[in-house]
Amino acid sequence: AAVASVRDVSKTYGARKALDGVSVEVGAGEMVALIGPSGSGKSTLLRSITGLHPIDPGKGVIQVFGETVQQNGRITGAVRRARGRLGMIFQQFNLVGRLSLFSNVMLGSLGRLPAWRGLIGLWPRADKDKAMAALHRVGVSEYAAQRANTLSGGQQQRGAIARVLLQGAKAILADEPVASLDPVSARKVMELLVELNKRDGLGVIVTLHQVDYAIRYCDRVIALQKGKVVYDGPSTGLDTKR
Ligand code: ADP
Ligand code: ADP
Repeated sequence: AAVASVRDVSKTYGARKALDGVSVEVGAGEMVALIGPSGSGKSTLLRSITGLHPIDPGKGVIQVFGETVQQNGRITGAVRRARGRLGMIFQQFNLVGRLSLFSNVMLGSLGRLPAWRGLIGLWPRADKDKAMAALHRVGVSEYAAQRANTLSGGQQQRGAIARVLLQGAKAILADEPVASLDPVSARKVMELLVELNKRDGLGVIVTLHQVDYAIRYCDRVIALQKGKVVYDGPSTGLDTKR
């Protein structure tokens, strides 16, 4: 089933239409960039897919891996399962700064474990091995014991990606994941997302304000403008130069 199927979805804030009749479908294993100027509705679309806010009632359906998560302005019970399958990545990493990278990965993905484990470092061995494997997979296992707020932005973002891997996500929804990174770290994080897509088959939907990143790293580009889809097609053939 498709990672996300969005049909005729609108989202209004007061008098402002953040999404205006958006229909897009992203298949399993696709690597898709969501681009558009600030305020065009990119974050609103990602948040609608993960069921962080209800879409406008009356019309519109959102399905995640074949299950309806939003319909007629209501978020359904399937949203919990959908959130487990969708790994969310944010611009500001969303790690707890005073905790180690390792504890962040453990707590974020194995939320059932009480927080005191993170503070005194007492974890079941099997979970610990899985967390270290995930940190190794994204190339930051050597920083596992360091507090998150002592690491560079790129290292923190890799940690956040390890967390969604450990969560067992089938797709990654990343909202401006490289916007606060220096160019070298940004490229490394984009390359990691490509690798997880191509090698591990994870679907990726990533919002980017840099069109050249979308062209270089993504196979498909969806462009939003004022809440409407104005382009949806392959990234090949697109160019940022006149
Ligand atoms: P983008 O991610 O493309 O920058 P957003 O989805 O954040 O765009 O925002 C789309 C529009 O909706 C903007 O006009 C923004 O100001 C508005 N908006 C987004 N979130 C809210 C909110 N929580 N309350 C009111 N308006 C919002
Ligand atoms: P982004 O485009 O990356 O989402 P924004 O600065 O547009 O960044 O939004 C950051 C947060 O502020 C989001 O949670 C969004 O819902 C909220 N927001 C954006 N625009 C508005 C607005 N006009 N009124 C209230 N909240 C807003």
